[in-house]
Amino acid sequence: MLFKDLNLNKPILKSLEEAGYLEPTLVQEKTIPLVLEKKDVLTTAQTGTGKTAAFALPILQLLFDKQDAPKKGKKIRALVVSPTRELAVQIGDSFKAYGKNTNLRSTVIFGGTSIEPQIDILKKGVDILIATPGRLLDLHKQDIINLDYIEILVLDEADLMLDMGFIDDVKKIERLCPEQKQVLLFSATMPYKVEQLANNILKSPERVEV
Ligand code: AMP
Repeated sequence: MLFKDLNLNKPILKSLEEAGYLEPTLVQEKTIPLVLEKKDVLTTAQTGTGKTAAFALPILQLLFDKQDAPKKGKKIRALVVSPTRELAVQIGDSFKAYGKNTNLRSTVIFGGTSIEPQIDILKKGVDILIATPGRLLDLHKQDIINLDYIEILVLDEADLMLDMGFIDDVKKIERLCPEQKQVLLFSATMPYKVEQLANNILKSPERVEV
């Protein structure tokens, strides 16, 4: 199977070609079509399997397809929640690389660093936000971030997120997003507490295991 068999559009295929990626990995092959069908998806996959592109590519495609010039502005349309700063930065780099031939804007916010530069970027408007839970809630409380227009929510490394004690933050973030949205949950392992979270948040999810 090649990326072009997954119905991805030209700007995205071009960036994949530039990255030297021709064939999707197994998790990408299984997850991308489900995300493009707007399903909620529960994917069990370890880091290193290509899971970031498994959500980044179809999200870029869905947002790009629905792009509507007059509405383009300050509405955040996709939110990726990540447990750690390092992971958030890697996800941000992936969105930048795969989205470079689209005009979709993404940024990464995380705690433990000065908040002002993050506020400046957010005020200019982004389509895709990658964030760690604490800084996200902080900026939401300050009215810098509005989650009312989220169409797609991704919870990445959900098992780690729960191990790090972010369960209440994650639930709060989910409730701040619109009821009607697509949710993708990725986890390296699927212990009971992750299943429980998925039951609470995802609607009739499709399951992918690699
Ligand atoms: P991840 O599991 O998302 O952390 O990705 C692991 C590594 O695989 C990253 O360095 C990606 O850039 C790379 N990668 C992702 N998808 C592909 C692909 N289809 N072909 C080759 N490398 C890939």
